[in-house]
Amino acid sequence: MKQRPTFPARMDSSVSAAKAKPLPSTNLPQGLGMDSMAVRQRMVQKLAGQGLSDPRVLAAMGRVERHRFVDSALVNQAYEDTSLPIGLGQTISKPGVVSRMIELLCQATEGKLGRVLEIGTGCGYQAAVLSEVATEVYSIERLRGLHEKARENLRFLRLANLHLLLGDGMLGYAQGAPYAAIIAAAGGDALPTAWTDQLAVGGRLVAPVAQRAAGGGVAAQALVVVDKTSQGLRQTILEAVHFVPLKSGLA
Ligand code: SAH
Repeated sequence: MKQRPTFPARMDSSVSAAKAKPLPSTNLPQGLGMDSMAVRQRMVQKLAGQGLSDPRVLAAMGRVERHRFVDSALVNQAYEDTSLPIGLGQTISKPGVVSRMIELLCQATEGKLGRVLEIGTGCGYQAAVLSEVATEVYSIERLRGLHEKARENLRFLRLANLHLLLGDGMLGYAQGAPYAAIIAAAGGDALPTAWTDQLAVGGRLVAPVAQRAAGGGVAAQALVVVDKTSQGLRQTILEAVHFVPLKSGLA
C-alpha cells in the first residue's frame, strides 16, 4: 500500500490558532478527521465567493479529499485554487475550474446527472467529484502510468459508479453511450466528432478548445459548451482556460 500523505503539512495560522492543538503526527490516521474537513470547507466558501452556486457541486467539492490525489510534497497546497503536477507532464486541474465545468454540466439537469464520460482521468480527482453528482461515470486516460495512479488513489473510496478505462478518449467510449454529459480535461484544436455523436439528445458537453486568432494562428484555449438538442448542436464559447493538450493514441 502506498503511504498516504499526512494532512495538513502546514495550516494557515488563523485555523491552527483557532483550534489550538498540535498538528497531527505521521503515526496518526492519515489525512482523516476535522482538520482536512475544515480546510476543505474554506475552499468551498472561496468557490462560492467566486460565484459557484449549485448546491450539488458545492457539496461534492466539500466531500472529496483533494489532498489524497496529490504527491505528499504538495499536500499543503491541495486546497489552494491552483493546478498541481501529477507526473508524466500532466496536472490536476484547479478546484475553481473543476467546479465551474461540473456546474455547467449540472445546469442541464435537475437532481443527479445521468451517465457521464470524462476524458483525461489524470490522478482521478475530478472523476471522484463527478461520481458524487452523477449516477454513472466512465473516465478514460491515455497514459497507463496515470490510469494506474488514479486506480490506486481511488481504491479507498470504493466508488461503485465510477469506471476507469485505459484508452484514447478522442474516440469516446461507445459502449457507455449515450451520455447525459461529457467533460474533457485536455484541449485540442477541435471537438472530436465521437464526443458529439455519443452525447444524448438533451445532453451537454464541456471542453477546452483552441481558438483561432484573427491572423489564423492559435490564440488561446476557451471553455466550450455544446448542447445537443433535437434540432442539432448549439455551441457557446466561454472564458479562456489553460489545459494540457489532448493527444491521440495510448502511451
Ligand atoms: N481530471 C484530471 C486532470 C488531468 S490532466 C484530474 O483530476 O487529475 C488531463 C489528462 O488528460 C492527462 O492525464 C492526459 O494524459 C489526459 N489526456 C490527454 N489526451 C487524452 C486522450 N486522447 N484520451 C484520454 N486522456 C487524455
